[in-house]
Amino acid sequence: MIQQDAALVCFSGGQDSTTCLFWAKKHFSRVEAVCFTYGQKHSLEIEIARTIAGQANVPFHLLDVSLLGQLAPNSLTDPSIRMDEDKPADSYPNTFVPGRNMVFLTFAAVMARNKGIFHLVTGVSEADYSGYPDCRDTFIRSLNVTLNLAMDEQFVLHTPLMNRDKKAVWQLSDELEVFDLVRNQTLTCYNGIPADGCGSCPACKLRKEGLDSYLETKNK
Ligand code: ZN
Repeated sequence: MIQQDAALVCFSGGQDSTTCLFWAKKHFSRVEAVCFTYGQKHSLEIEIARTIAGQANVPFHLLDVSLLGQLAPNSLTDPSIRMDEDKPADSYPNTFVPGRNMVFLTFAAVMARNKGIFHLVTGVSEADYSGYPDCRDTFIRSLNVTLNLAMDEQFVLHTPLMNRDKKAVWQLSDELEVFDLVRNQTLTCYNGIPADGCGSCPACKLRKEGLDSYLETKNK
């Protein structure tokens, strides 16, 4: 049976997908979360995701796609690879996991279809990040068409953060009344430290810049 008012959220327990989880709760009466394990160094993020989903009263599913990390070693899964601090001029930083969002959304769609769910939510954004190709709107629209053709269904891929920079993501979490939860419980840091994180990795810097900028506006 098609659940018109249900959504499946690709959820990692980070700032973006946690904001998306609560965005989905506002827009859909039934929400479930799927978290992917792909050999990431920090298994803590999976436990954090599970905990937040529990607090949000959302069913939590864990899918193992660790083959992804094995096929394409990267600095998020391989401790011997030193993480790029900046984006190299001619390529993507080694935090890029080729095919990740395509694999995640494809598996999420297969899982959702089986549950009669056709709304998928992902926290990708083209306003920030390192310009990963699988975070761009063009890719998401293309995959949406492909998933529909692949399964002869009408999926709708939702990307509430697509045009929001980190400052705007903080603002959205505040509007959704989960600012403190997002700030204190999520894990975005590439070094696996929750909340405000290590403060020096690229993910922490981006998160902190957005936070400082948002707090400045908010406190005016
Ligand atoms: Zn960090």
